[in-house]
Order: sequence, then structure tokens, then C-alpha cells
Amino acid sequence: MGGFSLELNEDQVDLRDWVHGFAKDVIRPAASEWDEREETPWPVIQEAAKIGLYGFESLATWFADPIGLSLPIATEELFWGDAGIALALMGTGLAAAGIFASGEPEQLAEWVPECFGTEDEPKLAAFCASEPQAGSDVAGYRTRAVYDEASDEWVLNGQKAWATNGGIANVHVVTAVVDPALGARGQAGFVVPPGTPGLSSPGKIKKHGMRASHTADVFLDDVRVPGRCLLGGRERLEARLARAREGQRAGGQAAMATFETTRPTVGAMAVGVARAAYEYALEYAKDREAFGRKIIENQSIAFDLANMRMEIDAARLLVWRAAWMGRNNVPFTAGEGSMSKLKAGEVSVWVTERAIQVLGGAGYTREHPVERMHRDAKIFTIFEGTSEIQRLVISRAISGMTIR
Ligand SMILES: Cc1cc2nc3c(=O)[nH]c(=O)nc-3n(C[C@H](O)[C@H](O)[C@H](O)COP(=O)(O)OP(=O)(O)OC[C@H]3O[C@@H](n4cnc5c(N)ncnc54)[C@H](O)[C@@H]3O)c2cc1C
Repeated sequence: MGGFSLELNEDQVDLRDWVHGFAKDVIRPAASEWDEREETPWPVIQEAAKIGLYGFESLATWFADPIGLSLPIATEELFWGDAGIALALMGTGLAAAGIFASGEPEQLAEWVPECFGTEDEPKLAAFCASEPQAGSDVAGYRTRAVYDEASDEWVLNGQKAWATNGGIANVHVVTAVVDPALGARGQAGFVVPPGTPGLSSPGKIKKHGMRASHTADVFLDDVRVPGRCLLGGRERLEARLARAREGQRAGGQAAMATFETTRPTVGAMAVGVARAAYEYALEYAKDREAFGRKIIENQSIAFDLANMRMEIDAARLLVWRAAWMGRNNVPFTAGEGSMSKLKAGEVSVWVTERAIQVLGGAGYTREHPVERMHRDAKIFTIFEGTSEIQRLVISRAISGMTIR
């Protein structure tokens, strides 16, 4: 039996320092500009692709870490740089995770590289699960997928909401209903290949934060995709649907399977933003003077900073635990994935708000980055399952009861 250690190995330290360097030198200086422009930061994505930081191979290497910490470590550093730009870089990973969660090996080999494009020509991917009438309520999706035997094609019709990279992606991964009678268990995931007719988007939605990341609705109007675009293949789907019809426990719902694997990573995003705001506030408090002394010399400010640091460290430990469990196939028995995302998301909102308070009026202005960090942080209690939904997952897991 191996012993317990939280000491990062050499590979993890090298990765952290490398990503930190990119976050500090490339992402940070561009943060304010892309937040104001509310556009996808293509030059940053291209630079990340050139050095191998954005791409299929880097993600695969981070995933391959047997301890499971490489992905959260790299993610925290990117989001420490800037959350909006980092989400533009990491949004593709959610779609890739959707393919990983349900796809066959040959589907991974075909589609994951298409998600990222190449070093010289990077591309984006979108994971389209949420719909205007159903975000948390994944059983309420209405987008339909109907199989056309004659052409061996699936025909998709419906509307997806708030998809990161929706409409500007090379590959869209879409969750759709195959058998409406089975609710959430009658759904499947599909890859919509580049340039498929019938997929359109009305354009970017204006947002409170994460403004460098593209969020948009996606319309699917008689979108025909080849049979091989059904993630997991027909045989597995038919077997799963048959089990569901017989009332047996079928394998998980397609979108939920993706979210389970990505929650600790989303937690790491939130930790990165919180740490950035805390570090900024700490330096400010050591420098700013009021009433003839540094503001940090007041306990109320110093204790806030102490609590901020403690909460960030606690959140990171939950993220690392869930990431380690996920990578090592240790089952989540108490909603540990949800705990990590819930805690980190709420810490991020709280810490960024306190950071504004520590800076006072300066914190409320766009002269300092903490107001942007606060706007960015709020999404972490909403997407990939709201805080309420995480509490549902945890309370159901610990009680075994039906809690609504
Ligand atoms: C910037 C951004 C990016 C996004 N990216 C993506 C993406 O890439 N792909 C994608 O598929 N989706 C994406 N989403 C959508 C996101 O996942 C949903 O907004 C989220 O899941 C919440 O769904 P909803 O907005 O429909 O809220 P609702 O489900 O309508 O919830 C509204 C409120 O009711 C609460 N609530 C609902 N049900 C319960 C319950 N049973 N118990 C207690 N409280 C409850 C919720 O917690 C919330 O507070 C994104 C959203 C945003 C804003």
C-alpha cells in the first residue's frame, strides 16, 4: 500500500510552473481587454496552441496523470490568469469530456482531435445539453433524435441554450431524446461534425461575467448526422434503452455522465479565480494606508484575508480529493464530485466579494481586476449544476432517500 502524500511530483510541479508562466505573461495582460471587447480571444488561443498548451495532446497528458491532479493544477493556474480567457481555452474540454464519457475508442480518435484543431489552426468545440426550458432539469430536454434507417443517419431537431462556444465550434456535442417515454434515460449524445447543414446560432449572448467566453443558443433544424455520430454506438444504446424499458437501472444519463467527470475541474476553475482575488487583496491591504496605518493591521481586514486563504485551501483539498477519486475509479459515495464544485464555487463568489470590500472604492472600479473576478466567479454557482443541484446530489447520496 502506498502512503499518503499531498506533495506534488516533479511532473506536476513542472506543469504548474509552465501553465502559471503562460497565465502570468500572456493571459493576465490580455484579461481586461477581452472582458471589455466581449469577444473570443483568438490570439491567446492561437498562442496557447502553438506552445502545446491548448490541444488534444495536452489534455490527454493531463488526464493521464495516474494521481489525477494534473488537470486541476493546470486548470487552477489558467483561471488564476483570467477566468474569461481560460474558459475560452477550456470550454472545448467539456465537449471532449462528453465524447470521453460516452464514446467508443474509435469515436474518441476521430472526434476529439477535431474538437481542438491543430497547432497552426486551433478550433473550438461546444457541449450542448441545456435547453431554454430545461437546465437543471435534465429530464426535461426536448431536442429529438430520430433514426433514419434508410440512410443510416440521425435527424436532430430542437434548441439548445447557453452553450459555451455554441455556433462558433468546429464540433458540437449534442444531447437529444431518443425515446421520450423514458425521460432522462431515453437520451443519447451525438457529435455534429463541422459544417453540418441545419445547425445555426443567433450569436453571442451578453453576460454578467466570463465575457471573453462565447455563450450562445444553438438551433438544430433537421440536422442529419451519420450513424457513427451516435456516441457509444447503436448496439449499446439499444441495450441501454431495453434495460430502461424493463425498469432496470440503466447506465447514467448522457449529460450527467459528462458533468460527473468534469465537476472537480470546474471546482479547480473556481479555486483559481478565488486565489487570484485573494492574492490581489492581500497585497493591496499591505500597501494601502488609512488612519495612519496599513489597512491589514486592522483585525477585521486581516481576519478576512485569513478566512479567504483558509476557504481557498479547503476548497482545493476537496477538488483534489474528487479528482484523485475520479481518476482512480474510487466511487463517489457521498457526492464528493459535487462537494468539490459546490464548495469551490461558493468560496469563489465569497472571496471575490470580500476582495472588493478589502479594496473599498477601488475594488468596485475597473481600475482593479477584483470586480471582474467577482463577475466571473458568479457562474460557478450556476453552470455544470447549480449549488442547489449539487446539494441535491450530495443529500441523495448520503441519505439514499428521494429528496426534491
Ligand atoms: C456562461 C454560461 C455557460 C454555460 N455553458 C453551458 C454549456 O457549455 N453547455 C450546456 O449544456 N449548458 C451551459 N450552460 C447552462 C447551465 O448549465 C444552466 O444555466 C444551469 O444548469 C442551470 O439551469 P437553468 O439556467 O435552466 O436554471 P433552472 O434549472 O431554471 O434553475 C433556476 C433556479 O432554480 C433552482 N432549482 C431548480 N431545480 C431545483 C430543485 N430541484 N431544487 C432546488 N432548487 C432548484 C436552481 O438551482 C436555480 O437557482 C451555461 C450557462 C451559462 C450562464
